Amino acid sequence: MSFKANCVFCDIVRGKAPAALVYEDSSFIAFMDRSPITLGHLLVLPRDHYETVFDMPREEVGPLFTRAVHLATAVRKAMKADGMNIGQNSGRAAQQIVFHVHVHVIPRYLSDSPDGRWPTRRAASLEELESVAERIRGHVESLPTS
Ligand SMILES: [Zn+2]
Repeated sequence: MSFKANCVFCDIVRGKAPAALVYEDSSFIAFMDRSPITLGHLLVLPRDHYETVFDMPREEVGPLFTRAVHLATAVRKAMKADGMNIGQNSGRAAQQIVFHVHVHVIPRYLSDSPDGRWPTRRAASLEELESVAERIRGHVESLPTS
């Protein structure tokens, strides 16, 4: 496993920083975004540190997105979302904030954007995120190992 010092996501992967975990296996982990666009917004990432999707071995990109869609299925059910955004931002110009590659899984609702813009992110407490994570975990079905 490759880690980077002062990377908040590497710290979460190593259990050195708190997060509301939803899923983990030997290569990937998912936890709730601390400033969700909507409640249920989670992040899926490789345990290994790569700055952007372009730095990842190509054969790991497929399994990352497979997990993102798998978890999006659980979020959609748990949060009763009308739709889902599944997105990957690479580079500052693409609004990447933490430079450890991750995929955003964001539940969306027909009423959440009257003006057509992204809903405003807000800081959520770890307690609130943990209760949402628990709800989502209840809908995560086992993933075939690949
Ligand atoms: Zn990292």
